[in-house]
Amino acid sequence: MGNRLDTSEQIYFTKDHNMVRRAVRDFVNKEINPFVDEWEEQGYAPLKKLFKKMGELGFLGIRYDPKYGGQGLDYWYETAFLEELGHIKALGLAVAITVQTNMATPAIDEFGSDFLKETYLKAAIKGDMVGAIAVTESGAGSDVAALATTAKREKDHYAINGSKMFITNGTQADFYTLLARTSDDPGYHSFSLIVVPADLPGITIGRKLDKLGVRISDTAEIFFDNVMVPVENRIGAEGEGFIYQMKQFQHERFSLLPFTCTACRDIVDLTVEYIRERVVFGKPLIKKQVLRHRLADWLTEIECLRQLIYHIVRMKEAGLDVTREISMAKLVAGQLIHKVADGCLQMHGGMGLMSEAIISRYYRDARGLSIGGGTDEVMRDVIAKIEGY
Ligand SMILES: Cc1cc2nc3c(=O)[nH]c(=O)nc-3n(C[C@H](O)[C@H](O)[C@H](O)COP(=O)(O)OP(=O)(O)OC[C@H]3O[C@@H](n4cnc5c(N)ncnc54)[C@H](O)[C@@H]3O)c2cc1C
Repeated sequence: MGNRLDTSEQIYFTKDHNMVRRAVRDFVNKEINPFVDEWEEQGYAPLKKLFKKMGELGFLGIRYDPKYGGQGLDYWYETAFLEELGHIKALGLAVAITVQTNMATPAIDEFGSDFLKETYLKAAIKGDMVGAIAVTESGAGSDVAALATTAKREKDHYAINGSKMFITNGTQADFYTLLARTSDDPGYHSFSLIVVPADLPGITIGRKLDKLGVRISDTAEIFFDNVMVPVENRIGAEGEGFIYQMKQFQHERFSLLPFTCTACRDIVDLTVEYIRERVVFGKPLIKKQVLRHRLADWLTEIECLRQLIYHIVRMKEAGLDVTREISMAKLVAGQLIHKVADGCLQMHGGMGLMSEAIISRYYRDARGLSIGGGTDEVMRDVIAKIEGY
């Protein structure tokens, strides 16, 4: 795929979509990739600086309402943007960016008040604020409804108590889009989504968590001790937060798909480059049919994933519910990228294990995609449930 416009880009994307694509690609090549090794090493990318630049170029609000600084564009533009993020040579940063665009802000856009949009959405689109999504807790990951953080109404404020685990952008965020329990009643109507400014008294950021992969993105545990948040920071209706978050998850899960697909292709391409050069038993490794076939299998699966993504985009554009298809694509994408990264690392031989070889980073980063944003097992559960099993 490299730098050429391929058939799908010509069929599904207009010239205007591809202009955005090229602008993002250019940004990734000039403003991100030259620095990722340094950022990976330090364990975080300087998001405030980076998002400011991305905000100025209009990358952080592609679909959002121009009233709040967004571009008001369609899902194909968003897809082109997300596909290009897959060229970032550290996937953790693609995740950190999509936290801002597709995880911490969609519910504000869809259900938030004018005040929340003016204060937080606008700032997130402009790159003036870094957002994070705070749902998971040490006792509640796959089972979101098991969360224990409470937001107790006290006149015109909520008092928030509890803690959140594995929060991406957690050490740099200016606000958390946080899901908390606002009632003890059983069922799904006991939760609210609340925008919590990160500088309020009572908030403590725990240590930055050390991880196997996606090391360029900072992940933290956050503690809330009687944090008083104005009621006007609640997104939508009290008690409906769980429902809003389930919808927000669809934006989150979708955002992971196009960049994962691009990354799979990049992993194959860099491996082909390597095995063209690597001579074993007197010939370049690419001459081995068994390896070429393996590569062809992966390319076939990558193309299947890509076409499923485009099908999802068409469904989104038609206003259809895409929960089933997004869950299927998320399941495929997570498994495919670690299969491809593992197989490609194998083709690198001993060099594949070296930290200096980019394939080793892909291998480590790929693992998280079957866990973050809902695990493979959760995706299977969603699909089976929709099918009525
Ligand atoms: C790097 C990273 C970044 C993250 N960023 C964020 C973030 O920004 N914000 C946020 O809120 N969360 C974030 N998360 C949390 C992530 O969403 C959760 O880790 C994920 O949802 C799984 O939850 P868990 O870790 O508690 O696993 P658990 O729920 O404890 O699951 C453990 C295992 O049991 C399996 N399992 C669960 N239910 C079933 C079932 N019904 N049948 C069979 N198997 C089952 C799971 O699939 C998994 O394999 C992040 C996680 C990571 C690793």
